[in-house]
Amino acid sequence: MTTTDTVTQPVIKLHNTKTRKKEVFTPIDPENVRMYVCGPTVYDRAHLGNARPVVVFDVLYRLLRHVYGADHVTYARNFTDVDDKINARAAESGRAIGEITAETTQWFLDDMGALGALEPNHMPRATEYIPQMVAMIEDLITKGHAYAAEGHVLFAVDSWREGYGKLSGRSVDDMIAGARVEVAPYKKNPMDFVLWKPSSDDLPGWDSPWGRGRPGWHIECSAMADDLLWKRPLEEGKLSENALKFPHVIDIHGGGNDLMFPHHENEIAQSCCAHGNEVFAHYWLHNEMLQVEGKKMSKSLGNFFTVHDLLDQGIPGEVIRFVFLSTHYRKPMDWTEKKAKEAEKTLRKWYAQAAEALSGRQPELHVVELLADDINTHGVLAECHQYSQAGDVAALRSSMELLGLLGDDVPDWVKTPDVDLSAHETRLFEARQTAMESKDFSEVDRLKTAYMDAGLEVRMSKTGVELVPGPGFDPAKLDEI
Ligand code: AMP
Ligand code: ZN
Repeated sequence: MTTTDTVTQPVIKLHNTKTRKKEVFTPIDPENVRMYVCGPTVYDRAHLGNARPVVVFDVLYRLLRHVYGADHVTYARNFTDVDDKINARAAESGRAIGEITAETTQWFLDDMGALGALEPNHMPRATEYIPQMVAMIEDLITKGHAYAAEGHVLFAVDSWREGYGKLSGRSVDDMIAGARVEVAPYKKNPMDFVLWKPSSDDLPGWDSPWGRGRPGWHIECSAMADDLLWKRPLEEGKLSENALKFPHVIDIHGGGNDLMFPHHENEIAQSCCAHGNEVFAHYWLHNEMLQVEGKKMSKSLGNFFTVHDLLDQGIPGEVIRFVFLSTHYRKPMDWTEKKAKEAEKTLRKWYAQAAEALSGRQPELHVVELLADDINTHGVLAECHQYSQAGDVAALRSSMELLGLLGDDVPDWVKTPDVDLSAHETRLFEARQTAMESKDFSEVDRLKTAYMDAGLEVRMSKTGVELVPGPGFDPAKLDEI
């Protein structure tokens, strides 16, 4: 939509972490809305929790594009490809760092693509931004906000006591009392954080005024956001008169709420102090964390899995997206198998209905209004349920498209018939129990082959049998078994 269109657009309201209130979203320049979201550290497959901010901010990106026009929104999300976790992974595996980060980056894009996430306009990698980070650090030193000590450069929180801690609502003194901060002899204040650190010869490093080293984690986001969302549009003459009144300021900054402190607090300190500003982003948005079956996802609890694991088990990306959208982004979200099963059933029905409608129709204004009310995705899903019940396939389809649940085509997995396979699973399980006693496995082998011929994947464990339809599943063949 361009500004010449007369179609009424809803007011977007967003909960701003900075003020702890839901506020009307007013972009600096409606012709060029600018959003930055912190991206992944690329050393391994993205776990399911990592996908939550991707989906949440993808929905916001879609909403902004809908309201301001696809060409009037710029979204940047970084890849952290310099990090000690990556170095450790390389040392353990004997593989080159560049190989690990390139592979993991592509995995991330593939997995998030499967969840229906659009790619941001810019996806900068930290290693491409070393000169900009060095320049920003030099600037911070010149302005008295940072100091070099023993090959490190540290941000001096005491140089910005008035601003540091405002986002998370803590004073520097509270933080010192409550935080497990690394006390190092070269730090003037224990809360001072690293902008640059020395690298030994076996670690990635770049020449700098402070010797060979590598950046601290936080500085990349400050450097990239400024380059891609301020400097570049400025050079390209894309900033309006109003935007020029807010130098270096962006509209929206997002990420998981685990990043609020210290990462976002530190980004704000760096950006504001480097640019002599009081504001880095007007709106700060944070998604709550994801849990699994009511518990924190963790390797030790055995409930840790990646997006790829789920896709590999045959759970479609749309189903994962649907489950995510059914919980508001500011509430903890619980991933359960039951929800995934229900989501699949609902989506099968909706896709069958939506297939009868044309794609690309404008969504109902009141559906957009629902979504514009602090990204109320579950409200839009409730509306979809009503459209489905009423048989309003056009409104159903356009609402699903707004949520990113449907593109031009209904996904292939929906075309796989939904057949109850439990009787076949029991049959194979019982055949195996019998075979264990008789030691004659011919019937088990016969059944397995027949199920595979019908396009089913056969999964047998000690406790049971699972038959999973694959792409070529033909239920008619089951009758002959
Ligand atoms: P990381 O690679 O750990 O820096 O995390 C990348 C993104 O995933 C950040 O925006 C985190 O806030 C987010 N994230 C990590 N764990 C979870 C979780 N369990 N639930 C939701 N978001 C998460
Ligand atoms: Zn960041």
